[in-house]
Amino acid sequence: MRKTLRKRADDETRLVTLADSVVPVRIRRNNKARRIILRVDSDTGGALVTLPRRATVAEATALVADQADWLLQCLADLPPRIRFADGAVFPYMGEDHVIYHDPHIPGVVHIDDGRMAISGAPEHLPRRLTDWLKGRARAKITNRAHDMAAKIGKKINRIGIRDTKSRWGSCSPTGNLNFCWRLIMAPPWVMDYVSAHEVAHLRYLDHSKKFWRTVDDLGVQIKPARQWLIDNGSRLQRIG
Ligand SMILES: [Zn+2]
Repeated sequence: MRKTLRKRADDETRLVTLADSVVPVRIRRNNKARRIILRVDSDTGGALVTLPRRATVAEATALVADQADWLLQCLADLPPRIRFADGAVFPYMGEDHVIYHDPHIPGVVHIDDGRMAISGAPEHLPRRLTDWLKGRARAKITNRAHDMAAKIGKKINRIGIRDTKSRWGSCSPTGNLNFCWRLIMAPPWVMDYVSAHEVAHLRYLDHSKKFWRTVDDLGVQIKPARQWLIDNGSRLQRIG
């Protein structure tokens, strides 16, 4: 399942001043590109510019400056960036939870009625919570995906949990499934759909009618889940 933008190691980032904002602009070389392409980068809250072979960085920044009004409006419309910190609110399994720091709880995280307590030193809260969420994503997805694979008589080789920017999930020809940990913030029926989608690829590596029938047979809500990801995907990318 493809998301929108993919981050690459050889992207080069420039800071460009537009009106009174400083905007990070990722510049990406693509020899196959026919023209300079400017897109909003919801992950960084900046822009992504694709440059054809002979175009220069100066041309890229000139295009950004030329489109400043449009770009700043798009960035203003982005979902808010939510950092994991005491008092912040974020969705866990589709339900909003308030984060608060409590060094006295047993274990790493304690959930009680929409409140999520995180132990440890305050400066480690973001990392501890992220690690815990990744662990929860792994446990829940592993559970569901193995059940679903058994239903269609297939075996999963390995499940990986990543911070993928471009995909919610993927399936390799050798039966390795990868999932984005941020799915743990989505409602469980959305996570179930992504699990079913990747499990169905164990049988069909394409998106044929037979593939979609297999996803459907796994009893998930295909249409509403796909719509949910379209509507909320960029929001999840801006949390943590
Ligand atoms: Zn697919």
